[in-house]
Amino acid sequence: MLLVLLVPQGWGQQAEDPIRARVEQLREEAVAHRNRGEIAQARALLRDMEGLLNDLQAPLLQARYWHVLGTLDAEEGHYARALEHFHRAYLQFQAQEETWGILALGNAIGAVHQMSGNHHQAREYLENTLALARREENLAWQVTALGNLAISVAELEGPAAARPLEEQALGLARELGAPNELAIRLANTCRVQEAAGALDKAQATCREAAAHLEPLGLPRFLAGTRMVQGDLQRRLGSLQEAESHYLASLALGRDIPSVEPQLRERLGRLYRELGDDRAAAEQLDRAATLRETQAVRERADLMQEAESGFVLRLAENEIAALQRESSWQAEQLRWRRWINIATFVALCVLVLLTMLIYRAYRQRVELQQALAARNSELEQALETIRELAARDPLTGLFNRRAFREVAQHAMVQCRRRGQPMAVVLADIDHFKALNDSHGHAVGDEVLCAISRRLEGALRESDLLCRWGGEEFVILFCDASLREALRVTTRVREALLAAPVDTAAGQLTATMTFGIARLESDFDSALAAADKALYLGKQSGRDRIECSAGAPHPADTLRQTSARETS
Ligand code: GH3
Ligand code: MG
Ligand code: MG
Repeated sequence: MLLVLLVPQGWGQQAEDPIRARVEQLREEAVAHRNRGEIAQARALLRDMEGLLNDLQAPLLQARYWHVLGTLDAEEGHYARALEHFHRAYLQFQAQEETWGILALGNAIGAVHQMSGNHHQAREYLENTLALARREENLAWQVTALGNLAISVAELEGPAAARPLEEQALGLARELGAPNELAIRLANTCRVQEAAGALDKAQATCREAAAHLEPLGLPRFLAGTRMVQGDLQRRLGSLQEAESHYLASLALGRDIPSVEPQLRERLGRLYRELGDDRAAAEQLDRAATLRETQAVRERADLMQEAESGFVLRLAENEIAALQRESSWQAEQLRWRRWINIATFVALCVLVLLTMLIYRAYRQRVELQQALAARNSELEQALETIRELAARDPLTGLFNRRAFREVAQHAMVQCRRRGQPMAVVLADIDHFKALNDSHGHAVGDEVLCAISRRLEGALRESDLLCRWGGEEFVILFCDASLREALRVTTRVREALLAAPVDTAAGQLTATMTFGIARLESDFDSALAAADKALYLGKQSGRDRIECSAGAPHPADTLRQTSARETS
């Protein structure tokens, strides 16, 4: 049986560093030796390759190593070991999603199942591989899978069923144009055609196969083709020609476990037909010995298979666990990525919120400051308004309304303390005449100047107000009538001390004063003061008059007569 376990040369990605390059080179050299049937040399190269692989983290190179190693095991008939290595490689390629590797190993596993006679299993692997190769539109692996499938179909359903598959593979191989592949397909097609009884076709195909195989140095396939050519000649009755084909095949296929026993059996039968019983017995004995050796090895392999199966399951479990772990890690990574994004967004929102809160806080502080400033401005404006409302606009003295309020408060205090109080009503003399002579503006100047003189001469505790027109009221707190009289005299003297500077020149104004003691209420005292003032006016002006019952000023102070200077 001819099986295709070819490992293509130069496949996969380029090696990036010297060690990888060396590993690739070793693998390719091993494959070349294997294809020439030089198994021992191939194994030696693979041992070197294994040594280098131990230092590399290169799952794909490792898988390719197992693949080549498996093909060597299969060549030597160690099918269980081959299967173990192929499965390791197959799982690794699946884990790495390396389609090329999956196709190669699907074919290889199928082929090994065929070699160990398990054609149902082989067919399943090969049909799956063929379907994948078609999906991937990979012509080379379609050819290989079809060819291998034809072998299992031939075993399960006979050569007639296998022939169309083999011929289809041959057609695709011609399309593909790869010399090795075409030569192998020709070899296999000629065998199937021969088995299916299409002898003429088989003869032509075998000739073409031999012509293609000879220059390529593929002894295993050439041996197979020669064997089929021998079978053909035997069926056609050309026994001598059959012998020469068988011997040529034996020369090529000696020591190939899958080829040599079959050849020797054929030679044995042929020699029997030729009447050479001794040669026939020799070949048949040799074939039996080889088969026995093969059977012993297969029994040993069966033992090892159980062991290997266990190891394989362990390896499979390990790989499955690694796959689970890696998918879990990938999931973790996805989660971490999302968590990182969410954290970043949350941080951005936090920063934005902090900025907004800070801005709002700044605005609030600024508003509070503006409000405080506005309040203070309002307070000042209110104070000004209050001040304006309380003051006479011309002289700046208390007006009548404000004076009443302030005086009321002062009177309450004085009464509480039992202090005496007095009221003075003062009136500028002949003020109308002054206005008439010098004008109203000059009159205003005189009013202001007199106000300042009155203020200057009074005590701190005394209250002064412009009662109206050219009249003024003074409230003396904590002052007896005598004390009030003394201060009023000082006021009158201050007035007389110097003339007033006006736009119309220096003017001397005099005033008449009426004093009354404040005992019960302010208005009664004021009325009494008014009476005294009237008396003063009547008596010639520029003087101080006390209300009835009070000591007359003349008793205590010298009176100054009225003067007017223009
Ligand atoms: P007497 O000595 O009797 O008090 O005579 P008098 O002229 O001062 O009194 P009278 O009541 O006849 O005149 C008061 C004048 O005061 C009349 C008015 O024009 C003047 N007067 C009142 N208020 C003001 C003011 O604000 N400015 C000026 N310039 N004159 C005023
Ligand atoms: Mg008057
Ligand atoms: Mg007057």
